Amino acid sequence: MARHKHQDTFPPTSIDQELLKNLRAIVGAKHLSTTPEDRLCYSYDGTGQEFLPDAVIFPGSTEEVSRIMALANQVGLPVVPRGAGSGMTGGSLAVQGGLILAMSRFNKIIEIDRENQIGVVEPGVITGEFQDRVQAEGLFYPPDPASRQFCSIGGNVAECAGGPRAVKYGVTRDYVLGLEAVLPSGAVVKTGVRTAKGVAGYDLTRLLVGSEGTLAVITRITLKLLALPTATTTFQLIFDDLHQAVTLVSRLLNRMTPATLEYLDHTVLNLVKSDLPGPLPAGATAMLIIELDGDPESVALQSRNLKSFVQGHEGLSAIHEAATPAEAETLWAARRAISPATFRLKPHKISEDVVVPRNRIPQLVATTEALADRFGLTILTFGHAGDGNIHVNIMLDRNDPVEQGKAHEARGLLFEAVIALGGTITGEHGVGITKADFLDNEIDRSTMALMRAIKHTFDPNNILNPGKIFPVGDRSVR
Ligand SMILES: Cc1cc2nc3c(=O)[nH]c(=O)nc-3n(C[C@H](O)[C@H](O)[C@H](O)COP(=O)(O)OP(=O)(O)OC[C@H]3O[C@@H](n4cnc5c(N)ncnc54)[C@H](O)[C@@H]3O)c2cc1C
Repeated sequence: MARHKHQDTFPPTSIDQELLKNLRAIVGAKHLSTTPEDRLCYSYDGTGQEFLPDAVIFPGSTEEVSRIMALANQVGLPVVPRGAGSGMTGGSLAVQGGLILAMSRFNKIIEIDRENQIGVVEPGVITGEFQDRVQAEGLFYPPDPASRQFCSIGGNVAECAGGPRAVKYGVTRDYVLGLEAVLPSGAVVKTGVRTAKGVAGYDLTRLLVGSEGTLAVITRITLKLLALPTATTTFQLIFDDLHQAVTLVSRLLNRMTPATLEYLDHTVLNLVKSDLPGPLPAGATAMLIIELDGDPESVALQSRNLKSFVQGHEGLSAIHEAATPAEAETLWAARRAISPATFRLKPHKISEDVVVPRNRIPQLVATTEALADRFGLTILTFGHAGDGNIHVNIMLDRNDPVEQGKAHEARGLLFEAVIALGGTITGEHGVGITKADFLDNEIDRSTMALMRAIKHTFDPNNILNPGKIFPVGDRSVR
């Protein structure tokens, strides 16, 4: 299916009536739609790109997913699993048409086992809702993508989502103990354990986490939970020198492990300054947001250590500790609002989530500044400095072909620089379609061949989320 362009006449579904009838027989007539409204609603994601599916199907059980996959596999129908559609790399887009497999009816929290600190969920559960339920039980599920109020845990598992707390607590992968999943053949597999440890057989759980819906449809997830920290405090460190702000990151992490260590550059500060809990001092060019957690005594000790360590650090112009939880929440809400706020600068953006070794963040930031100057573009940086995972947003107007050309050239040079710095082109958003053409710049030929062989083993007919992750054409053997 070609990319949708808001045509006057809506293109009809290309799935034949007999196949539609068979799919309806699996899920019930009201759970399969070919209406223009539904096809449009499921045609886009966080990238702003649009690809029109032929139909949207809403399975209600693992058995239904299995029957859908078996049928699709028989006839070669592309199937694209979809959570909440907040992905930033086009993973849930039907780039070759076919069926969107919407997992929204898989919305049950099946179990929270307090004694063993385990949660079992269906993939369509919204991450923030699960966190609230777990917290009400005195437990903690740390992965906290900024999209947590609307993204699904299935999408988080498929992308291996991260968030600010990854610097201390790790990413989604570190919490997935086991999965139930449906293979493209329709076979149902169960991976992993529901114990604290387990090494029986290959670690298929880790293979499926981050596989971007290309190997199997995840239908049930067993998650590790932690005890809830009883105290938290949040600091804003404001700098009048951007370079000094990012230089502090790796030094600080050699002294302590904060729960978050986020970074905002001057363009981002300007964008969200009216959302911050207090006014910014004149000359502010960068901010670090540092959260400390634990029990009250350890948080008090960490706070003293932090203040004494950063005191006198060159470029630091102010340090402010949130006086109340509400003030801290205002600060975090401003942090979560960055991504939508960027569209006040330009109607479109190329949003990258590159990672470099932490001590090389200063070089990365210098690279983005040089690219912005060279191409006359607005390029802003913010994100999870504690992980070296910096969101680089190249702002543009896609209707301006010259600007679009410059932005794409800048992105290619950014990836080259990141790889030369020993980093990776994606830390949490995945490859999807937007980075597929760059994957083999980072990954060598033999490893690419192994990855393709794994895809072929799971999905010999290439029906599950085709057109994702791998470069178009066999660039790995060029
Ligand atoms: C404002 C904003 C902020 C964001 N902040 C962050 C952030 O801080 N950290 C971060 O990591 N990401 C972030 N993201 C990106 C996005 O929210 C995450 O990638 C999230 O994990 C996607 O979840 P989703 O439910 O929306 O998945 P979708 O977008 O629907 O799908 C994403 C991928 O998962 C696959 N998939 C979905 N469900 C299943 C399933 N059941 N089985 C198999 N495959 C499946 C899809 O095929 C697709 O490849 C942000 C996005 C936005 C818009």
